[in-house]
Amino acid sequence: MNITSPREITRLLAENGLSPLKKFGQNFLCDENVVQKIADCMHLAPGDFVLEIGTGLGALTRALGARAKKVVSVEIDRGLLALHKETLAGLTNVTVLEGDILKYDLKGLCAEHFGGGPFHVCGNLPYYITSRILMQVLESGAPVRSLTAMVQKEVAGRLSARPGDTDYGALTASCLYFAQPETVFTVSRSCFYPAPDVDSAIIRMELSHPTCDVPRDGYTAVVRAAFSMRRKTICNNLKALAGEDAKLILKSCKIDPNARAQELTASQFCEIAKSIFQKL
Ligand code: SAM
Repeated sequence: MNITSPREITRLLAENGLSPLKKFGQNFLCDENVVQKIADCMHLAPGDFVLEIGTGLGALTRALGARAKKVVSVEIDRGLLALHKETLAGLTNVTVLEGDILKYDLKGLCAEHFGGGPFHVCGNLPYYITSRILMQVLESGAPVRSLTAMVQKEVAGRLSARPGDTDYGALTASCLYFAQPETVFTVSRSCFYPAPDVDSAIIRMELSHPTCDVPRDGYTAVVRAAFSMRRKTICNNLKALAGEDAKLILKSCKIDPNARAQELTASQFCEIAKSIFQKL
């Protein structure tokens, strides 16, 4: 069965009385090459566990199931689950869970389905909650080894930006606490049914231990304050956290108080967090 042909997608949906729901960001992949490329770029080994976010009709789920030991896929739209009897038939290593991924405790899911072992996360993400899903996965404390996601091309640009780039912002700096996101390839809007209004890209992050030796809350507080007003200097923005000590703290970290947040590296945010939270 070729569930990435627009004709087959339309047939499957129509036979089940369904149509793509905008409110759930339902733009299904209708290009088998792209599906295979996404699964390939994860470099899965036959013993690996995978959590997929947003099963849809199951195009990516099938490709993941063919490569991994076990795939758990979470889908919010109950209507689509009826289709999986047909589209995921015979895939004994695939489990679809109905629900909102944002409500899942990923540590608990991992304990229940992967025996608490490390797992990879993958998803052609619903764009209305991309950032929330990314931060949920990164901050879950679950043993996530890598995150591979389809996101809007603009978001991919922001995620893989480097200090000094115009796109470098709070989301980028927050992710850098956990991993260095890379854009793997871009995907044209014509590879989806229905076609969205924007192009997309695959981003990938290999997760290791945080490179920063301050608790995440402190790091995040500094990043948020630093980017609160992009045009202001880092010194002015940090006053919200460190009061009049902001300048001294920056100097002790050898950071120019007149610099802007978008020029700072993750290790500099980390140094600032260390100074502020050691002082308080
Ligand atoms: N993986 C499929 C594919 O590539 O064709 C579907 C991708 S579609 C862009 C996003 C999928 O995520 C939809 O099936 C949608 O119903 C599902 N979804 C949306 N919000 C969700 C949520 N909060 N939790 C779980 N799934 C969600």
